[in-house]
Amino acid sequence: MQKLLNYVGGELVSPASGEYFENIDPSIGEPYSMIPDSGIEDVALAVNAAGKAFPSWSRTSPEERYEILMRVSRIIEENLEDLARAECIDNGKPLSLARSVDIPRAVSNFKFYATAAIHFASESHSSAGSSINYTLRQPIGVVGCISPWNLPLYLFTWKISPALAAGNCVVAKPSEVTPMTAFLLSEICIEAGLPAGVLNIVHGTGPNAGAEIVKHPGVKAISFTGGTATGEWIAREAAPKFKKLSLELGGKNPNIIFADCDFDEMLETTVRSSFANQGQICLCGSRIFVERPLIEQFCGEFVERVKGLKIGDPLETGTNVGAVVSEPHMEKVLSYVELAKEEGGTVLTGGKRADVNGRCSNGYFVEPTVIEGLEHDCRTNQEEIFGPVVTIQPFDEEEEVLSYANSVRYGLSSTVWTSDLKRAHRVAENLEAGIVWVNTWMNRDLRTPFGGVKDSGMGREGGFEALRFFTEEKNVCIAY
Ligand code: NAD
Repeated sequence: MQKLLNYVGGELVSPASGEYFENIDPSIGEPYSMIPDSGIEDVALAVNAAGKAFPSWSRTSPEERYEILMRVSRIIEENLEDLARAECIDNGKPLSLARSVDIPRAVSNFKFYATAAIHFASESHSSAGSSINYTLRQPIGVVGCISPWNLPLYLFTWKISPALAAGNCVVAKPSEVTPMTAFLLSEICIEAGLPAGVLNIVHGTGPNAGAEIVKHPGVKAISFTGGTATGEWIAREAAPKFKKLSLELGGKNPNIIFADCDFDEMLETTVRSSFANQGQICLCGSRIFVERPLIEQFCGEFVERVKGLKIGDPLETGTNVGAVVSEPHMEKVLSYVELAKEEGGTVLTGGKRADVNGRCSNGYFVEPTVIEGLEHDCRTNQEEIFGPVVTIQPFDEEEEVLSYANSVRYGLSSTVWTSDLKRAHRVAENLEAGIVWVNTWMNRDLRTPFGGVKDSGMGREGGFEALRFFTEEKNVCIAY
C-alpha cells in the first residue's frame, strides 16, 4: 500500500517515529494508503527547516514569488485530472465536482495570490507638513496552516498561497482524513522549484501533529479552518503566546426564501446549496425558511428534485451524491436524523444509509434528507450536522425569519431569495453572518473578505485581507 511522506526541508521524508495509520477510501470503506503519524519531532524538524529558509525567502522580490507561485499553479492545472481523481477517491466526492470546483479552485488560489503579491501595497500618511509616516508590511516568519477534509486541496491552498506570497515560510497540515492531494502538492512544489523549507507539509492527527504546530514557539501565526471546538482549543493554546490567529469555523447557515423570488432559479440553486459535496461545505444552507404562501409548492417540487439526485460511485459520470467522508461522520449524520424524529420532525425524503451496488456496496453513503415540522430552536436546527440533511420551516414576517436565522451560535454565510431590492438590502444588513448571498449561492470573487461572525470564527481570508493577516505592520515616522 502506498505510504505518504512528509515534505520537510524540500525532501519527502518518513515520520520520525516510523509509524503510519490507514487512509480509508470512503466510497468502498477500505484502506488504500498509509498516512505518516507525525508528532513533536517532525514538527520541530519542519519549523527548523522553515526558519532556515525564511531569511532568503522573505527577501525575494514580489516578482520572484509571483514567478514561482504561478509555476505551482500551472503544474496543478496540468495535473488537474489526476488530482481530481485523487480527491474523489480520498474524500468520496463526485469526480465531476473535484474536476469542476476543487482542483480549478486550487489553481486559482495560487494564481490569485501570485498576482496579489505584486499588487499588494501599504499606506503612507503625511502629517501636517512636518513628517511622513509609512507602513511597512513585513512577513511574519514561520506560520502554521491547518485545514479540514471537506474541500481538501481547495482550502489547503487557500491558506498556503497567501502565506507564501507575503514572504512567510509555512508548516502546514492537511486533514488526516483527506491527506492525498496535499501529498501530491508537495511533489508539485519540488517540480516547480520552490526553495527547500519554504513550504513544509507534516501529515498526522490533530492532537499529535496539529497541536504541536499550534504549540511550537517558532510558529508565529496560525491560520486554521475546521470545527468550532478545535478552534476554541487553538485559541486557548495560542492566545497566551500572542500568536496571530485566523479561525474559520463551523456554520449552520440559513437559506431564506421569500414568495416573490424567481422560483425556478431558487429551486435549482437550493438543491445545490443543500446537497453539493454531500452537504459537507461550510457554506451549505442547512436551514431552509420558506415564506408561507410558497411552502406547499416548494416542499413538493424540492422533494421531487431531491429524489431525482443520483447517489452512487463518485468516479462514475452522472453521480450527483457521493460518499460522506468517513464512517464516524456517517454515523454522526444519521444520529441527527434520529434526533430530528425524536424532536418531532417528519422526514419527507431520505433519512437512511444509502445502498449502492457493486464496487461501493460497503461505502459510506447517506441519502439526501429533507425534514420538516421542527421548531427553529431545537437541537437539529441549532447544531452543525455538516452532511446531506436540511430542514424546512415556514415563516410569515421578515422580522420573524430574521430572528430564526440569527438564533444560532454560528454566523458564517446566508442566502436570501427575493425580487424586492429594498428587502434584500434590509435583510442583508440584519443577518448575523460574514457573507450574504442574494439570489445566488457560493458565488465567489477571491478579492472579497471571507469569514464568519459569532462562533463561526475570527478574522477574514481572501483578497488583501489574507496578505494583511500574514504580514506584520510597522509604522515608520520621518520628520522633515
Ligand atoms: P476539525 O476541527 O476536526 O479538523 C480540522 C483540522 O484541524 C484537521 O487538519 C485536524 O487534524 C486539525 N486538528 C484537530 N485537532 C487539532 C488540535 N488540537 N490542534 C491543531 N489541529 C487540530 O474539523 P473537520 O472535521 O476536519 O472539518 C469540518 C469542520 O470544518 C466543520 O465544522 C466545518 O464547518 C468547518 N469548516 C469551516 C470552513 C470555513 O471556512 N469557516 C470551511 C470548511 C470547513
